[in-house]
Amino acid sequence: MPSFEQARQQILDKVSALRAERVELAGAAGRVLAEEIVSGADLPPFDNSAMDGFALRSADCASPARLKITGYVPAGGLAEKAVEPGCAIRIMTGAPVPEGSDAVVPVEETEESGGEVQIAAAVRAGQHIRRRGEDVPAGEMVLWAGTVLHPPAIGILASLGRREVEVFSRPQVAILSTGDELVELGEAVGPGKIVNSNSVALAAALRSMGAIPVMLGIAGDDPDETRVKLSEGLAVADALITTAGVSAGDRDFVPEVLEGLGVQTVFREVAIKPGGPAGFGLKDGKPVFSLPGNPVSALVVFETLVRPAILKMMGHSRVLPVTLRARLEHEVKKKAGKLFWLRVSLERREGEWLARSAGDQNTGIQTTLLRADGLAMLDAAATRIAAGEVVEVHPLWGEEHRTEVSTVEASLRQT
Ligand code: AMP
Ligand code: MG
Repeated sequence: MPSFEQARQQILDKVSALRAERVELAGAAGRVLAEEIVSGADLPPFDNSAMDGFALRSADCASPARLKITGYVPAGGLAEKAVEPGCAIRIMTGAPVPEGSDAVVPVEETEESGGEVQIAAAVRAGQHIRRRGEDVPAGEMVLWAGTVLHPPAIGILASLGRREVEVFSRPQVAILSTGDELVELGEAVGPGKIVNSNSVALAAALRSMGAIPVMLGIAGDDPDETRVKLSEGLAVADALITTAGVSAGDRDFVPEVLEGLGVQTVFREVAIKPGGPAGFGLKDGKPVFSLPGNPVSALVVFETLVRPAILKMMGHSRVLPVTLRARLEHEVKKKAGKLFWLRVSLERREGEWLARSAGDQNTGIQTTLLRADGLAMLDAAATRIAAGEVVEVHPLWGEEHRTEVSTVEASLRQT
């Protein structure tokens, strides 16, 4: 049975980024760049003023000077003439610096009267001028494949005139929940039945990271029904997630059905708790994740093992979470042998993070996960973690990979 780290590595070794596609820059926020962007032009494209003021010759201003105002150049305009010795041209922020001038003096450092401007202090050559190409010279690499297109990246691409960009395709991830006890959200919940909350929660997790859930619905505890839905999922999607039917019960046949469909098993369980009966396999390169049915276990496994894989499929260069170190406020006891994901609340106090149990750690208690800010990784070998010890915490539901939900919904409707 692999450890958590081994399982995560085995998964990451076997998944890769999906194909690239061209999208309009305007709709590319949150997508992952699939090409390298080499600037085709200088940014800024011309020398321009950083201030509202006067363009002049610094040599004229070694001592206090009065200069004749001979023109005006607004942003978007061009000076009609060069700046002659003893003269200045009024200039606005962003306007091209007129020929002959080598400095700009901000208007608030000047005094004007009778068509002349008084410059009191010495002027440094080049002051308040933004030089052509000083931000991005033509030919320079600006963005790399694997970069998330956040607003500054979109802004630079727009400045470079890029109307379309190559991004990695968003993975379509099929979700199948299994179990005779399940009914879909909105259906009547008869005696002994429960709502299929796993599919809804997993779809939400996928959407929030920019992937596209494909809902396969529910398969009862029946191998034939399960086989039909799983082969449908494998045909249409880039990856597959199942929940339940993987424990030791007499009706847990998801692994056998998957193998019957040609899915090559990589592992069937992981030395973690919650989420031990988590399986992973591949069918023609498509990853297949078999999650436990318990809603807490399913989401913990999704966050810790599935999410990095989906991020890799999306082309992200950063797929592992940024963990934080927190001081445990109380003692925790556990069994040796499995990594324990302790659902914790986090608080920042006096420059450090403090972690405390978010509630009853029984996997049946969904509200503890609801209230948790993170999962503290308690070492497999440990049996007791003392109060005050520092633990590594995997923050939950980070916003860093979020993308605009409406665009995901729109592409969902197209499928
Ligand atoms: P199983 O893995 O089939 O033994 O299920 C473990 C627990 O999770 C049982 O209490 C199931 O009722 C529950 N469960 C299984 N699938 C789902 C689901 N899709 N949504 C909510 N609860 C589920
Ligand atoms: Mg079951």
